[in-house]
Amino acid sequence: MGDDDQEVEAAIAHLHEPHDQAVGQRLNWLRAGVLGANDGIVSVAGVVVGVAAAAPGNVAAIATAGIAAVAAGAFSMAGGEYVSVSTQRDTEKALIAKEIRELKEMPEEELAELAGLYRQRGLSAELAQQVAEELTAHDALAAHAEVELGIDPEEFTNPWVAALSSFLAFTIGALIPFVMILLPIGSPIIATAAAVVIGLLLTGLISARLGGAPVLPAIMRNVLMGSATMAATYLIGLLFGVAVG
Ligand SMILES: [Zn+2]
Repeated sequence: MGDDDQEVEAAIAHLHEPHDQAVGQRLNWLRAGVLGANDGIVSVAGVVVGVAAAAPGNVAAIATAGIAAVAAGAFSMAGGEYVSVSTQRDTEKALIAKEIRELKEMPEEELAELAGLYRQRGLSAELAQQVAEELTAHDALAAHAEVELGIDPEEFTNPWVAALSSFLAFTIGALIPFVMILLPIGSPIIATAAAVVIGLLLTGLISARLGGAPVLPAIMRNVLMGSATMAATYLIGLLFGVAVG
């Protein structure tokens, strides 16, 4: 049992080794970071703008709500990421363990299976057989992991690293509205909205560039969604403030 477990761990580490995927891996991290920051900007902007609309000038209330929103969001993002990466890793481990066993116990069926999968992808029977044989000789498990299990070597595998990164990314984004709303100026809501729009322009731009998507629609969607969030919580805050005050 212990040996099997070690074998599975080693196999997974090998599958996710940064061969030539180093660039793809870095892009994945960057993309996740930008998304986390975007979340931080939008959700904390929504909270502080709503509270500021309900209780204008009440710095203590705004700061308290803001800090609670930053903490709650950062922990919830980190926890969600931890759970999702852990679960994915467990699934992957189970699949790999099964595959290792099958490769040991019935190598011929596995070779035929691999060739079949390449035929399904459009190769001729002859070529599929040749590809399957050569890949099996080279690294049978890697071939099955990719073609049969669809395991992406660029995916994150460490739940703690994933959790910490989302925590940081969310917090960095969240600090934009949190700091702006507390500036001792005439209209902090307008200043916050302006800073948030600039932040969303940037995150929209960067994620579009990273994903190779057209930049303008991505930016417009991102700014529109964030602005709609702020407008909604502003109105709710206003109504609530009137009702309570
Ligand atoms: Zn297989």
